[in-house]
Amino acid sequence: MAKKTVSHCSFCGRTEAQGATLLPSPLEDAHICLDCIDTAASMLGLIDDDEQSQQRATIARAKASNKNKGACKGEENLAKPLPKPAEIKDFLDQYIIGQDQAKKYLSVAVYNHYKRLAQDKGKNDVEIEKSNIVMVGPTGTGKTLIARTIARMLDVPFTIVDATVLTQAGYVGEDIESLLTRLLQVADYDVEKAQKGIVFIDEIDKIARKGDNPSITRDVGGEGVQQGLLKLLEGSVVNVPPQGGRKHPEQPMIAVDTKNILFICGGAFDGIEQAIAHRLNKSFVGFSTDEATRRIERDSYMSHVAPQDLKTFGLIPEIIGRLPILAHLLPLDRSALRRILTEPKNAIVRQYVKLFDMDGVKLVFTEDALDYIVDKAIEFKLGARGLRSIVETVMMNSMFDIPSTDTKELVVDAEFCASQLESAHFDVNAV
Ligand code: ADP
Repeated sequence: MAKKTVSHCSFCGRTEAQGATLLPSPLEDAHICLDCIDTAASMLGLIDDDEQSQQRATIARAKASNKNKGACKGEENLAKPLPKPAEIKDFLDQYIIGQDQAKKYLSVAVYNHYKRLAQDKGKNDVEIEKSNIVMVGPTGTGKTLIARTIARMLDVPFTIVDATVLTQAGYVGEDIESLLTRLLQVADYDVEKAQKGIVFIDEIDKIARKGDNPSITRDVGGEGVQQGLLKLLEGSVVNVPPQGGRKHPEQPMIAVDTKNILFICGGAFDGIEQAIAHRLNKSFVGFSTDEATRRIERDSYMSHVAPQDLKTFGLIPEIIGRLPILAHLLPLDRSALRRILTEPKNAIVRQYVKLFDMDGVKLVFTEDALDYIVDKAIEFKLGARGLRSIVETVMMNSMFDIPSTDTKELVVDAEFCASQLESAHFDVNAV
């Protein structure tokens, strides 16, 4: 019987047991290890040392992950046991104020998505189709926060991409595949894990088809991108550059199947209320001078949002069809902003109280201070995003001075807030 030889690199002689990652040659029993490939590449000036080590790690990890493919299936492959929709919503409630409809829809959608993954493919059963999600609502109302919080709860790889930077291959910007590069990176190049991840595509409303506009000669960010995106949403195997970009054309690609990746899209869809009103055959009285009336109108129209309303924003019907779950978020009113300051588990005020507590200082915000901060956020039209910048500015001097003193308590009231904003020349435009 012929003796089984141990594979080794034909250049440096190292075996896999000695840590070499070997690529076989079509010739019998000839191999080359990644280190020797790197050495050759750097001798030819193709890559620098940093890239060398990164790429080596990438390939080794992807190889290891692909070796383990199919080892376990479905639910047990998720990092944590799957929570029920009501539990997902309860978790979201701890971090996100209001937006009940969106939280409920997202909870059900995510639950079904993972149930679908857990389905026993062996049985000749009803195949559950994938349901990607689109969230419609003004900027800064919690779309990203909801997606991020869900990903944290399920402990799956999660990445956010901005649709506006995506372009068709060959144009300046990022190729569509780059969003999978990021997912791979957060999954630490574990392909199996990445293939069950969540991708949040922000500003989906900004990739409208521009073909009808005569001033734009090339539809760089429009239909081409939507077609590319469609491929990913539908589910296909995509060759992904592990380091992203086109800077390294020589980098080996990693095949990623998007079939089980959950895509959550978000967009402000500015002015969608008019489209809804139009469809409902009602005139939109958006010119009311009374802010409260205007908001009621806007809110009630938003609750009637339907897929066809997205069409007016230039999204191709195929994309809309691939985003069957449509959730809407409402603008945040004064009471929601006030609650956001203190109620979420990681509310801004709680974070500062903790920071000061670590220095042995008791920090107290008075009710009028909280009202003042909310007033400023509304006055400057900063919404929820502005709350943090305002609190940050209010607290800056104290955060600098107090650790060097023996102060044991700091009470922040409205007067203190006003004086701090004034002395910092709080600049709305810088937020
Ligand atoms: P967008 O809708 O533009 O994706 P984000 O989710 O990024 O908005 O919200 C920006 C920030 O505002 C969040 O990080 C969070 O601090 C705060 N925020 C917005 N909406 C809410 C909400 N409903 N509940 C709690 N915090 C919120």
